[in-house]
Amino acid sequence: MFKLPDLPYAYNALEPYLDAATMEIHHGKHHATYVVKLNEALANQPELFNKTIEELILNLNSVPEKIRSAVRNHGGGHYNHSLFWLSLSPVKSEPAGELMDLLNRDFSSLENFKGQFTKAALGVFGSGWTWLVKDQANKLMVITTANQDSPLSQDLKPLLCLDVWEHAYYLKFQNRRTDYVTAWWSVVNWLEVAKRLS
Ligand code: MN
Repeated sequence: MFKLPDLPYAYNALEPYLDAATMEIHHGKHHATYVVKLNEALANQPELFNKTIEELILNLNSVPEKIRSAVRNHGGGHYNHSLFWLSLSPVKSEPAGELMDLLNRDFSSLENFKGQFTKAALGVFGSGWTWLVKDQANKLMVITTANQDSPLSQDLKPLLCLDVWEHAYYLKFQNRRTDYVTAWWSVVNWLEVAKRLS
């Protein structure tokens, strides 16, 4: 069975940028429900419990068709949110070393990268995610995905992700997605991004 991972910080740890109430509902209700529904979908295919969530998402075509969209949506939700929580930290950090070199190489500067990522996040229509990914040729790119689709399914390695579903920000920011994205930059865990890069 898949399990809801604990957060590596308290629900109120990211205040005032991301509020405790949103974090609690987002993790304890939304993410928890993805895990419950993923387990329900896999209940009749128990051999799939031997796979990791990454393996399931990487090989969606090998999942039986009758549960494939449930695994794509709820498994994707579980995987994406697990990454999202680790991409946040109350401890301030900055990109450095190889990560900074690659951001400079592929986006000209950190500021350009942040601008491109923010623009992509604001442009997501409906529910979805914005990602910094690394492709097979080791190039960094910004992409967006709809619903709970994951870059893993496109053979891209996720380094950083931003949830732009309304449930991620509506309680505190209502329709002001720009303010949410601005606040989110203040709690990005760059050490985690660097760790995923290597
Ligand atoms: Mn979410």
